[in-house]
Amino acid sequence: MNEEYLRKLNTCIQCGTCIGSCFSGKVTALNTRKILMEYLAKGKPVKEDDTIWFCVTCYACQERCPRGIPLTDILIEARKELVKEKGLPGRLKNAFGFLAEYSALVPARDEHAKLREELGLPLYHSQFVDGARDEVVEIVRKHLGGVVR
Ligand code: SF4
Ligand code: SF4
Repeated sequence: MNEEYLRKLNTCIQCGTCIGSCFSGKVTALNTRKILMEYLAKGKPVKEDDTIWFCVTCYACQERCPRGIPLTDILIEARKELVKEKGLPGRLKNAFGFLAEYSALVPARDEHAKLREELGLPLYHSQFVDGARDEVVEIVRKHLGGVVR
């Protein structure tokens, strides 16, 4: 991990403001401080702790930390390290696959798809500007090989 991040994490005073500010942590098992303290102790993100993917990168914890610790930036860095080491979790792989194929993070429900067909509408209405889909597909293929055709 980046030395500056380690130095900053070491200044934590365990006040709990980050946890109390976390929107995701109110409804999921995400415990920002626990993840980052384990990261600090082991020098790398904890593989078994998939809750790191529950962070919605809202930056509330980072904005409110009285020590000015860049918590969200560190979480993002930890995710990058995890992806390099063991790839994305299955659910996220699926989501990126759908995004590249259909311009949507989840596939249409059957009744929705049927209704669109009856109305003569294409199944998915591309939200990508010209050329952007190719770029997304290339990125997804490069990092998640085999997820998209
Ligand atoms: S808000 Fe900052 S100082 Fe407080 S527990 Fe979280 S990381 Fe530590
Ligand atoms: S950036 Fe992530 S960890 Fe921080 S408050 Fe938002 S959801 Fe929670």
